Amino acid sequence: MAYSVQVDADKCTGDGECVDICPVSVYELQEGKSLPVNADECLGCESCVEVCPTGAITVEEA
Ligand code: SF4
Repeated sequence: MAYSVQVDADKCTGDGECVDICPVSVYELQEGKSLPVNADECLGCESCVEVCPTGAITVEEA
């Protein structure tokens, strides 16, 4: 199963919660924003969606 991972840069505050919780290191902080640089590795667990305080993350089946 492949997943599409998107971060709304306008909502992202760069707190890094998703970076810390993702079990497969999908995210990287770059210039104060989280980017899903390894989206190919996403397991679809939605932990990042739940932990993000601003609702900036969307994970969908691709
Ligand atoms: S859904 Fe799970 S595996 Fe995918 S980016 Fe979020 S925390 Fe990582």
